[in-house]
Amino acid sequence: MAPRLGGTLDERRGVEYRELRALRLLNRLRDRPMPFGWTANPYRGCEMGCRYCYARYTHEFLGQNDARQFERRIFVKRAEPSTLVAELGRARRSGLAVALGTATDPYQPAEARFGVTRRVLEAARRVPGLRLSITTKSALVERDAALLAELARRSEVSVNFSITTLDAELARRLEPRAPRPDLRLGALGALARAGVPTALFVMPVLPHVTDDEAGLRALLAAAREAGARSAVWNVLFLRSGTREFFLEFLAAEFPGLVPVYRRLYAGSAYAARAYVAEADARVAGLAEAAGFPARSRCVRAADAPAERQLSLVW
Ligand code: SF4
Repeated sequence: MAPRLGGTLDERRGVEYRELRALRLLNRLRDRPMPFGWTANPYRGCEMGCRYCYARYTHEFLGQNDARQFERRIFVKRAEPSTLVAELGRARRSGLAVALGTATDPYQPAEARFGVTRRVLEAARRVPGLRLSITTKSALVERDAALLAELARRSEVSVNFSITTLDAELARRLEPRAPRPDLRLGALGALARAGVPTALFVMPVLPHVTDDEAGLRALLAAAREAGARSAVWNVLFLRSGTREFFLEFLAAEFPGLVPVYRRLYAGSAYAARAYVAEADARVAGLAEAAGFPARSRCVRAADAPAERQLSLVW
C-alpha cells in the first residue's frame, strides 16, 4: 500500500485528510450474487464516527491499527473525469448496478471539501443507462439534488438514507458526528420532491437500543411521509475490530447491556437467530403498516462473508 499513500491534503478539527492514489475507483464484485455488481467508496475512513461502524477494520489495510484512526485520518481517492467515465461505461455495459458508499459514507464531511462523490456523479451524467445506488447518513447529499434528479431521468438511481432512530440525543451518542435524524429526513424529502427515488435504510437495528416498537414505528412513518419508496433493515453485525470498539462504547454508555450483547453475539458476528427472526418480523410488520411495499432485501458489506468484504470496500 505504501506507494499509493500520498501526503496530507488538509487538516482541520483534529482530522487529517490524506491522498490515496487509487488505480480505479470502481471495484467489480465477482462470484457472489449481490444486488449490485460494482462498488465505489471515494473515501477511506469516516469522521462521522458511528460507534457500530463495520468498516473500521478497513483502516488496518492502510497500516492504521488504532480503530480511532478510522475517524481521524481520512484517505481521499482521486480520479480523473475521463477515467471515471470509462469505468462507469464498463459498469453500464455489464448491466450490473453500481453501489456508491458500501463501506464509508460518500457524503461525509470530507466531501464538502474534496468533492470526489460529486465528480463521480458528474461522470455518471455522461453515461446514461447506468444503475446507481447511493447510501448515506448525510444531509450534504441535498447539495446534489438537481444533478441526481437529472441522472434519475436517464439512469436508474436510488438514494438510500441510513437512519437508525429519530431520537436526536440517542443518535448523537451512537453517531456522534452524523447530521441529526431530522436533517437526514429533510434531505430525503427534498430529494423525493425533486424526483429522485429514495429509500430508508434502518441499518443497523441495535438490539435493546433502537429496536423498540414505538421508535421504529415513528421512524418508518416519518420516512414514508417524507417520500421514501422502500425500507430495508438489518440487525447489527459485529465483526472483529468493530466488536471491541462497540463493546467499549456500551460499557461506557449502556453498561447494563454488555452482558446482554455478549450472550446475543456469543462467538459470532451475527446476533442469535431467534433475535434476528423476531426483529425481522417486527420491522416487517411496522413497515407494512407504514405503507411500504414488501421488503426488498439489500445485501451490504456486513452480509458478505469475510473473504468477500475487502472487495466491497476497496
Ligand atoms: S456514516 Fe457510515 S461509514 Fe461513516 S462512520 Fe457511520 S456507519 Fe461508518
